[in-house]
Amino acid sequence: MMEEAESDSEPSIDWDSMTFSFTETDRMYIAKCKQGEDWQPGVMQDFQDLQLSPAAGVINYGQGLFEGMKARRAEDGRILLFRPELNARRAQEGSRRLGMAVVPEEMFLDAVHQVIHENERWIPPTGRGELYIRPLIFGSGAILGVAPAPEYTFLVYAVPVGPYFKGGMNPISLKVSDEYHRAAPGGSGGVKAIGNYAPGMMPSKNAKAEGYAEIIYLDAVHHRYVEEVGAANFFCVKDNVIYTPELTGTILPGITRLSTIELARSLGYQVLETKVDIEFAMGADEAFCAGTAAVISPIGSIEHGGKIATYCDGEVGAITKQLYDALSAIQEGRAPDPFGWTPSA
Ligand SMILES: *Cc1c(COP(=O)(O)O)cnc(C)c1O
Repeated sequence: MMEEAESDSEPSIDWDSMTFSFTETDRMYIAKCKQGEDWQPGVMQDFQDLQLSPAAGVINYGQGLFEGMKARRAEDGRILLFRPELNARRAQEGSRRLGMAVVPEEMFLDAVHQVIHENERWIPPTGRGELYIRPLIFGSGAILGVAPAPEYTFLVYAVPVGPYFKGGMNPISLKVSDEYHRAAPGGSGGVKAIGNYAPGMMPSKNAKAEGYAEIIYLDAVHHRYVEEVGAANFFCVKDNVIYTPELTGTILPGITRLSTIELARSLGYQVLETKVDIEFAMGADEAFCAGTAAVISPIGSIEHGGKIATYCDGEVGAITKQLYDALSAIQEGRAPDPFGWTPSA
């Protein structure tokens, strides 16, 4: 008998012990573009290492960005995306900010679809995880002076993932960073520039060593207003009103953030996008963070300046739970999607 082709066989992976970590999958998409010209048609190829000039713009000057999105297997067999056109548009904004070639929206979405279909066996069974899709756009051409690279690469790969925070809906403990900031006004905090992330690794690692799940960053000017939780957006609830930091250019405009705001308003809540003073957040009734990887994760406590705020005695707050349930039901195809957020891949 013929051996089953690799692409049809079930991968040897324990779906129930997956974390948010790297697993090599079968296929990836790659396309290139010379500065000032159109993109060459992209191709699918086996997952493999890249060949890159040591003078490539991305490894010398950090000229690059990433995106992150998820594909999920619904109960009825459909493979659902979540507002992928917003990832495409955010990548375009970021490419402009970083002086890179802009990937057309249709090309971005087509690449994502191809990567999902050619890695279909890596999409976890319903309810047991997601296929995390990682688009990258970076300056791959050689350049010595600090200037836009002469060539760009658009690449998409995918990895099966489990929960971002260990413990799923267990409220996480956070610590406010008094030493470090993530982004300054006029900088690149509002786009998914790769260079925004390495400076957060050491503070985050130190916080984890102290037993915290992540760090909360305050604004770089007043060191007073909440910006983000690591790589997720911040929300808090006080007297049934939902608060989230307004987008001032230093905060990443999360698609989960936007969807949470729209969903909460559709459920009748008042949502204020405003400056969120850390003292106010410490006195809130509930707090949570939102992002593609984290979805909606309840915050159990925040440490700041020697004080600890505890929310709902470390239990999940009612509004946090309601929003999590409503959002994840739409994302997983368990509830009707009146917004049209979940196109099939
Ligand atoms: C990606 C990201 C988010 C969340 O954005 P989503 O579109 O919801 O995934 C929030 N903050 C930072 C810094 C991020 O990089």
